[in-house]
Amino acid sequence: MKHFNFFRLFVPIFLLVLVSGCNNPVSETQKDARILKIDSLKQAGYEIIDLHAHLKGGLTMEQLLEHSQKTGIKYGVAANCGVGFPVQNDSDLKKYYHSVKDYPVYHGMQAEGREWINAFSPDTIALFDYVFTDALTYYDNKGRRTRLWMKDEVFVEDVDSFMNYYVNQIVEILNNEPINIYVNPTFLPEIIRERYDELWTEKRMLKVIGALTGNDIALEINARYKIPSAEFIKKAKEHGVKFTLGTNNGANDLGYLEYSLQMIGECGLEPDDFWKP
Ligand SMILES: [Zn+2]
Repeated sequence: MKHFNFFRLFVPIFLLVLVSGCNNPVSETQKDARILKIDSLKQAGYEIIDLHAHLKGGLTMEQLLEHSQKTGIKYGVAANCGVGFPVQNDSDLKKYYHSVKDYPVYHGMQAEGREWINAFSPDTIALFDYVFTDALTYYDNKGRRTRLWMKDEVFVEDVDSFMNYYVNQIVEILNNEPINIYVNPTFLPEIIRERYDELWTEKRMLKVIGALTGNDIALEINARYKIPSAEFIKKAKEHGVKFTLGTNNGANDLGYLEYSLQMIGECGLEPDDFWKP
């Protein structure tokens, strides 16, 4: 009923705006196109699930479910777990799980930093539908704790040695941590981001892809950072890697998975190329 009333109210305003020649109805039209795209993919047999959403920056589960209903995107909602994050230990993790377990979403755990392995018990981790991590946090070759999205924690003295070290870190993580999905994949720090295509050489791509297939880990196609590149995704598909869709929202910016959905077409991904919890 609530929706019906809202719609009745909204349509006349929308028409009025159109008639009065206001130049802003474009955003509404775009929104519809994004939802139509999601709808047509679902009709073609794709499940559109964003497995990388967070209740952060004030976003509530109710708001997320409302967005889900509006867009047709299903969600997996993950707690950020690790040193310096909202969920730091086993009892935090249990408490979190019990606070969300009845909501109709997949329940995920984002493992942060490399210390998480010793901070949570296997039994508590097993309450969750899936676990994922990224390779944005590690100790660099001089022992400095590095977070690749923090400008002042990134030291690129020589680009090639930086890349080689980073690729080895990714491979180590994929080989040693019990995760289902590698997220924010191939992310580069701002200072070298423009050189993505040049720095992600075929050899480097194949190393990461080998670690994904060797450990049965899915690869996220991240809508926020627009990574990995189409070239990387195509190569991963050739080697049998499975994919997931993910946003990694900062607050209420859940969005419409545009880059991820664009890659489905551009890289010829089929419904059975996707991993599901
Ligand atoms: Zn995240």
